[in-house]
Amino acid sequence: MKSWESYVRKVVPYTPGEQPKKTKMIKLNTNENPYPPAPGVERVIKDFDVDRLRLYPDPAVSALVNELAAYHGLKPEQVFVGVGSDDVLAMCFLTFFNSEKPILFPDITYSFYDVWADMLRIPYETKPLDADFNISIEDYMTENGGVIFPNPNAPTGVELGQREIETLLKYNSNVIVIVDEAYVDFGAETALPLLEKYDNLIVVRTFSKSRSMAGSRIGYAMASEKIIKYLNDVKYSFNSYTMDQLSIAVGVESVKDNGYFEETLHKIIATRERTKEALAGLGFSFRDSKSNFIFATHESCPAKELFEALKKEDIYVRYFAKPRIDNYLRITIGTDEEMDRFLEFVRRYLGR
Ligand SMILES: *Cc1c(COP(=O)(O)O)cnc(C)c1O
Repeated sequence: MKSWESYVRKVVPYTPGEQPKKTKMIKLNTNENPYPPAPGVERVIKDFDVDRLRLYPDPAVSALVNELAAYHGLKPEQVFVGVGSDDVLAMCFLTFFNSEKPILFPDITYSFYDVWADMLRIPYETKPLDADFNISIEDYMTENGGVIFPNPNAPTGVELGQREIETLLKYNSNVIVIVDEAYVDFGAETALPLLEKYDNLIVVRTFSKSRSMAGSRIGYAMASEKIIKYLNDVKYSFNSYTMDQLSIAVGVESVKDNGYFEETLHKIIATRERTKEALAGLGFSFRDSKSNFIFATHESCPAKELFEALKKEDIYVRYFAKPRIDNYLRITIGTDEEMDRFLEFVRRYLGR
């Protein structure tokens, strides 16, 4: 090893889901939305004045912050926008998780949390989900340096109730608690009303799933003014101009069109419920997902085998070769037609 190599920040990076370069495939592996973004987004892109690219974007992202604040009934000082919620979450880890005590998150959860913790040298402990994949809140009522979990959880789709979240917040009033609401729009209850009572709560959202804009990289945090101020201080000390002009413009347009947003959500929820019934009929079991995916295991067919068979048909789902979940598939909800083709293949493959 070269001597400079001992001073490298060595990390084991996050492994994102596959983005195959194919045109004809059914892509149910990274929880993207099968429907296009709000119609106004296309218009904004067509009308975009390229001359604006000469100028730096607004570092405060005021246009989008104001739109989101109005949408959620919050003050603009309570909203922080970043380049996808991954950027927002990483900024939160950097800003708030500086205690000597470990931060806590579930053993089965979004697999970026331990990557950020390792990279930023943040001590952490994982708490096992129970046998039914529920978060046991008592596990989080011990001394810690902060708490983070997605609600609904990923990749399980299981929701933690608001009363339990509040109990957890009450106990953890001395640390920051982050609720990652990447999938909350698909039918779970939001922790947002708790912001009024708890100034240590951060609720994080993304445009990548429910708003069909994973390619625009927009995420945001909502919290007390004090928390947002601390987040902005760190962001401006790192990279002030993170969001590009066009992303800001399309983000604003998406938030303005609530009718289209709700219509898309309803379609996905209806398809999800229909898919649950079909999967149950084929011998799959799963917890009641409140997200845009179903995390399912089959009574006789090993998950990895089915995953490979689907892939050969250019149907992509997500498989995690990890303890406790290596016999499960995470199936993103696509269009009705995509789900029919997926189910049709599975039915044939299982000989049903
Ligand atoms: C998809 C996802 C994110 C990241 O979303 P981006 O906004 O695209 O960075 C964060 N948390 C969870 C739980 C997710 O599933």
